[in-house]
Amino acid sequence: MCGIFGYIGKKTNIEKVLIEGIKKLEYRGYDSAGMAYVDGDVIMKKATGKISELEKKIDENSIGSIGIAHTRWATHGEANDINAHPHRVGSVTIVHNGIIENYMELKDLLVKEGYVFTSETDTEVACALLDYLKKTTDDNLEVIKKFSQRVKGSYAMGIIFDDEKDILYATKKDSPLIVGLGKDANLLASDVSAILNFTKKYCLLDNYDIVKFTSKKNVYLQQRYEKC
Ligand code: GLU
Repeated sequence: MCGIFGYIGKKTNIEKVLIEGIKKLEYRGYDSAGMAYVDGDVIMKKATGKISELEKKIDENSIGSIGIAHTRWATHGEANDINAHPHRVGSVTIVHNGIIENYMELKDLLVKEGYVFTSETDTEVACALLDYLKKTTDDNLEVIKKFSQRVKGSYAMGIIFDDEKDILYATKKDSPLIVGLGKDANLLASDVSAILNFTKKYCLLDNYDIVKFTSKKNVYLQQRYEKC
């Protein structure tokens, strides 16, 4: 079991906030860690081993208002920096907890479509599928809905799309994920312990929920889709 933490809200020392978030999830076990956040571009940092290894790479002065972080428990591919999350393909960046059972079949299809994979993970395939599905619609909620119809297995995911870098998306199936609603930030986490520094107001997501976090009004939209 790994951990996911996400932040969207007031500008903050984002790398530090993301590190502190995943530290609260450390007890769940992991073999590597990473983070992604928006500072104009999407900045990614990863490290194999303890979160303290990732912490050595952080910029004390980083500023950001949206980010996702991850502790990985490898299921597909060894624990190394390339396989560590986040994964980024095309215009999509994700962290993922779970197993995409039909990833080989999806990978074959995506390779035929020209995708080149650098990691051994099922997660990079999930990320490429999201990027591929973006070619069919401009609506990112629709992209995630189509994704849930194509994948078999389990997932809790935090997603940043390059064309909506001020929005954080999340979805889940058979892996835990909660949403925290704070005064200055909305949060995403694998469990409550990671958000309590920000808020005690939270809800557990159900399978196929899709969450769209915006920071402006501190509101979120939750939609549930039945799998076709
Ligand atoms: N299956 C993914 C991987 O091997 C995610 C593992 C996890 O839940 O941490 O990278």
